[in-house]
Amino acid sequence: MTAASSPRGPLTDGPRDPEHDPSASYALEPDYVAALTARVAASGAQTHEVRSPLDDAPLAHVPQSSPADVERAIVRARQVQQAWSRTSVADRARRLLRFHDLVLDRQDEIAELVCLESGKARKDAFLEIAHVAMTARYYARTSEAHLATRRVPGMFPVLTRTEVNRLPKGVVGVISPWNYPFTLAMSDGLAALMAGNAVVAKPDSQTTLTALLGAELLADAGFPADLWQVVAGQGSEVGTPLIGGVDYLCFTGSTATGKVIAQQCAERLIGCSLELGGKNPMLVLRDAPIERAAEGAVRGAFSNSGQLCISMERLYVADQVYDRFVERFVARTQAMALGASTDWEVDMGTLISARQLETVTAHVEDAVAKGARVLTGGRARPDLGPYYYEPTVLEGVTPEMTCFGTETFGPVVSLYRFHDEADAVARANQGDYGLNASIYTGDGRRGREIARQVRCGTVNVNEPYGAAFGTLAAPMGGMRESGLGRRQGAEGILRYTETQSVGTQRGLPIGPPAGMSEETYAKVMTISLRLLNKLGRA
Ligand code: NAD
Repeated sequence: MTAASSPRGPLTDGPRDPEHDPSASYALEPDYVAALTARVAASGAQTHEVRSPLDDAPLAHVPQSSPADVERAIVRARQVQQAWSRTSVADRARRLLRFHDLVLDRQDEIAELVCLESGKARKDAFLEIAHVAMTARYYARTSEAHLATRRVPGMFPVLTRTEVNRLPKGVVGVISPWNYPFTLAMSDGLAALMAGNAVVAKPDSQTTLTALLGAELLADAGFPADLWQVVAGQGSEVGTPLIGGVDYLCFTGSTATGKVIAQQCAERLIGCSLELGGKNPMLVLRDAPIERAAEGAVRGAFSNSGQLCISMERLYVADQVYDRFVERFVARTQAMALGASTDWEVDMGTLISARQLETVTAHVEDAVAKGARVLTGGRARPDLGPYYYEPTVLEGVTPEMTCFGTETFGPVVSLYRFHDEADAVARANQGDYGLNASIYTGDGRRGREIARQVRCGTVNVNEPYGAAFGTLAAPMGGMRESGLGRRQGAEGILRYTETQSVGTQRGLPIGPPAGMSEETYAKVMTISLRLLNKLGRA
């Protein structure tokens, strides 16, 4: 177990060695903070103090947007979007690839800010950076094809020419959570820009600086001013005017908030995509490669301290391999390097807040009080950081316990033994969520067959979450209470467009030509319809 420290990057100043100097704290250069916070669309004097979960020291005072600020941001976005919608997709793609390069070039700065704001391990911050870069590259290279006007068979062959256009919605609102503050604030919106929209982003109050750095990188990459704006504030205060003015809303966060947002969007009849919570199952089948499954379970359960929507909170393990798997899983968990720092050496960082720590503590205490066994972990570690909680493996979890079906969103996983695969699939499908699942097996084909029986938007075979989520060409999202709509792939950009069908009629009009009665026309039509069916036309 380590609480490492390292020389800081370009952002920080002052003592940097919390392990050897307990009074040391993480801090940001005031000029750096000032440059970032100047980007918030806010006119008043109200600010929100952001503190680092690494040491609870203040990081910044972020200006807060009023409802009027949000409305003005949307007006400005609408103005600049007009010209943006007339740019070529190739032009947009060039800027997006510049953004891709900037993200990779400035990755140390981004990672450090993400670690300071969220408390995550640096390797988890790097995954965000990689995901943003992959998203930028994917949409830069594929948007032309996704957005191309499509010719479809017309009502009458030869006479009717019909095309389907993809027009931008206008202004897209993006509301994002704190757990992946860089990629969840940026990636969804990149597709919106490529489709010709403007974006007004509302990140979580805890991680606004990271979202502001993303906006700066877009500006540096050559995207026009005001095409991407950031509003800051508490969700209910800033979210309502945002939803009240935009043309589409992309939300990532809890299922409870998602339902509120869906209702607000329904009031205005605007579309929305909702990327919500999960209680994700992993199945370890009797032919699973045990060491690999144990490695995957550690990554699946404890990446980002379990504060990952697609992380594994339920492990169903076949009887035949249960003991061997549990021994390897627990041993690997106990070998993790724990720490609240920005170092590469840390395997698992801290929880982000006192609220998260309370939830995790309450779930474990409730389970233990009702008879669950703690195989490892099960306690907070204030010696490592104010909100630190050990990676925790539980056995004997039953339906009366809160953590049986409720998302913990922390480093807590429950182990269940199964005898019968069909029963394991049925148990994996229990509950209201349907976000992500994982299947470990020695037979990939069988894994893919079982995947079809699992009611989740993504299923990974021999991998906890990365194979599906990391494939940008594949849609990602949740079934049931885990969401609505999909990010990534064609769906991820087409959601930001209005389809427009343009039909051009040549030669004969639709309806009886001059001199033909309606009755004769109906007979001619009937013959034509029969013929078209015989020819196999759609
Ligand atoms: P949350 O719903 O409390 O907050 C998410 C965002 O919504 C924040 O920016 C918040 O300020 C804003 N918000 C809150 N109330 C609002 C309102 N009434 N109107 C408008 N905006 C409002 O979620 P959280 O607890 O911060 O995030 C964790 C949750 O997010 C977990 O359930 C997790 O599973 C989920 N999540 C899902 C995905 C996914 O892709 N499916 C990804 C990450 C996180």
